[in-house]
Amino acid sequence: MDIFQITAQELLDSRGNPTVEATVHLDRYTRVSGMVPSGASTGKYEAVELRDNEPQRYRGKGVLKAVRNINGIIAPALIGHDVTDQRGIDQKMIELDGTENKSHLGANAILAVSIACLRAGAVARRMQFYEYVADVFGKPAREPFTMPIPLINVLNGGKHAIGSSDFQEYMIVPIGAPTFAEATRWAAETFHELKGIIREQGWPTTVGDEGGYAPPVESNEEPLKLIMQALERAGHTPGEDIAIALDPAASELYKDGKYHLTKEGMSLTSAEMVDLFVDWAGRYPIISIEDGLDEEDWDGFALLKDKTQNKVQIVGDDLFATNPQRVRIGIEKNVANCVLIKANQIGTITETLDTVHLALDNGLTAIVSHRSGETEMPFEADFGVGTGVGQVKIGSVSRSERVAEYNELMRIERHLGGRSILAHFPFTGVANA
Ligand code: PGA
Ligand code: ZN
Repeated sequence: MDIFQITAQELLDSRGNPTVEATVHLDRYTRVSGMVPSGASTGKYEAVELRDNEPQRYRGKGVLKAVRNINGIIAPALIGHDVTDQRGIDQKMIELDGTENKSHLGANAILAVSIACLRAGAVARRMQFYEYVADVFGKPAREPFTMPIPLINVLNGGKHAIGSSDFQEYMIVPIGAPTFAEATRWAAETFHELKGIIREQGWPTTVGDEGGYAPPVESNEEPLKLIMQALERAGHTPGEDIAIALDPAASELYKDGKYHLTKEGMSLTSAEMVDLFVDWAGRYPIISIEDGLDEEDWDGFALLKDKTQNKVQIVGDDLFATNPQRVRIGIEKNVANCVLIKANQIGTITETLDTVHLALDNGLTAIVSHRSGETEMPFEADFGVGTGVGQVKIGSVSRSERVAEYNELMRIERHLGGRSILAHFPFTGVANA
């Protein structure tokens, strides 16, 4: 089925900032849209999100230039193109843009169209969205679908919740759950126990950008203690039923060669940061650490991976920026064992899927991830199931833009009936080993 028309519009994301929606028209009556998310703790190697920089509109964050690029440049080039030729469509946009980092047309313009085409391809082929993603990804049709284990944000800090911890994300991972729906229930119950504990401290129970609580903790270790208590109250065995994952987003803490922790009033060297995580990993059931170090600190990453004996998932987010060139360097330097996958870091669906293949082919794990500024349209749910990577990071079980992903995953699991299995989490952590 060919693309009949493409239109675009400036709408809002979950933080009230403008974002791009592209709509692919397959005929006069069949329209399918794609919206792009947006980060706050963005890595410097990400593709360029084109903003208008006109201070009088949305404090400079307007995206009308990106919208015009879709209407005026991308649409005329793609009208008449087979909507199921995802690689050809993405390649065409990469050529039209002509830059390394998509700064000419904007990665937000390009990705909005890329997502809209992916969704429209599913409609044209009369497939479920996750089935179509699997098809484009190249999953053998006879293999069963794998439901991903969610990494659920329960406590927000850093740039996503000013006044809370320095570290950005404390997550729980229901590694012992039998199904995705049960994993979600365990997480929601633990989340509500955590709320009670925070209230008992006399702290506000407000939430951050990704829906986790954002209490004014006194140290960066305190959230771990609160989570352990919440697990106990919810009746889950730490490390067996539910483990812990961290995303310190350490690039945000790194300045002049040191990591600055305001809660502790300390500035740590790279080796001292590694020691901090190794100490925690010995005392808490931590199974995954994302961006524990700065995006340029390859040696620090390698040291952390080494000192946690490959028992902890060491995840590169800002480090890799979903960019195959950076992932290749990471593989060579042996610095991480997992790649965080965010489509808007690289800017097209095809390149995103290629990066997933690169990671998996080299024995690394991959996590399909949202951004802190999200849209109301579930995407990571289907993308996670379709690629079968086994892990998704889609925020807390609060705020509708996050819950939309959990709900979509529960729908998919139900739709698949007995034809799906919940992924097995491949790392045990140090404390549990
Ligand atoms: P961001 O944060 O979307 O603000 O970059 C998410 C993350 O660091 O994983
Ligand atoms: Zn991150």
